[in-house]
Amino acid sequence: MALLEVEKISCVYGDRPALDDFSFKVVQGEIAALLGPSGCGKTTILRAILGFEPILRGEIRIAGELMSRPGFSVLPERRPVGMVFQDRALFPHLTVAQNIAIGIRREPKADQDQTVRRLLGIIGLGDCYSRYPHELSGGQQERVALARALAPQPRLLLLDEPFASLDIDLRERLSLEVRDILKETGSTAVVVTHYQDEAFAMGDRVGVMKQGAILQWDTPFNIYHRPVSRQVASLVGRGVFIEGILREEGAFDTELGRVQDDHNTYSHPSGTRMDILLRPDDVLIDSEGEISATVTKKAFKGDDTLYTLRLASGTQLLALASSHKDLEIDEETRLSLDLEHLVAFPRTPE
Ligand code: ATP
Repeated sequence: MALLEVEKISCVYGDRPALDDFSFKVVQGEIAALLGPSGCGKTTILRAILGFEPILRGEIRIAGELMSRPGFSVLPERRPVGMVFQDRALFPHLTVAQNIAIGIRREPKADQDQTVRRLLGIIGLGDCYSRYPHELSGGQQERVALARALAPQPRLLLLDEPFASLDIDLRERLSLEVRDILKETGSTAVVVTHYQDEAFAMGDRVGVMKQGAILQWDTPFNIYHRPVSRQVASLVGRGVFIEGILREEGAFDTELGRVQDDHNTYSHPSGTRMDILLRPDDVLIDSEGEISATVTKKAFKGDDTLYTLRLASGTQLLALASSHKDLEIDEETRLSLDLEHLVAFPRTPE
């Protein structure tokens, strides 16, 4: 059974809809990530789940219990929900142990201490019991904030852009660490973020949001490799579209030659013009390749390099290559395609 059910909810600010007919479900033990640009409604959905935002239509249930519907709302403090805020909000005058125990301070002291020590062990900060927040790094503070939210054992944990204030390397590492902690504690969680890497690293499922709606709710793999629409393909990951003309049985003629889709069937008539998505990992820099191109940009990323390449026609492609291959700007090179499956959308606007 789903632990969190958000069913067709709508929220408005004044006469402007912030969420419209918005639905998703999260099952027990699952981590869901909501991914979307600034202003798409991520904070509003968290506020609605927490009980701070009235809903105009629809229902929110947690563990089968009704939390919100129009004209009805369980008080925020009565909801079995924990929250990790963007700014971590640790109390500077309290020790790490006291911060973690905030939400369980009415329990017997010995029980509090047991919980605090267990969580400190899980977050790998067993030796920080008596330290103060300013004596911790940003990443360590983040883990303490997580432990504090986990201490009262909420049925559901919400994380609002949890790593926004951290630098990119730490963000990447922490998203995996936090995922491990959530899995180890059997937590059910919803994380909202506008960083794709964070959503992919943390979420079992990802909801791609735009303007108060979910465009696709799926695994990170499917969101990246099988986007359901051109909009999702453009919002998530890098890539370019090239024109393909549909021929028989999923074969397309393109300026890169004929490409074949063995996984999807197309009901469009032969001759339909489609846009085919080429991700940087679909394009190989390959001295034996049949396509010639010129390097126009390169972005060195350490373990790999992202190249922008121009074909004779002017079409630009992206290719990701091991950084051992070091091509120069304006260098001529050869390419081949490694298309495991195709993502193609009709040319007509959506
Ligand atoms: P960000 O990533 O920048 O935090 P978000 O995805 O969390 O953005 P929300 O804060 O949920 O977006 O806002 C959704 C929409 O509702 C935005 O257009 C925003 O301007 C509007 N909005 C949010 N809060 C209010 C408010 N209190 N009054 C009026 N409009 C609001």
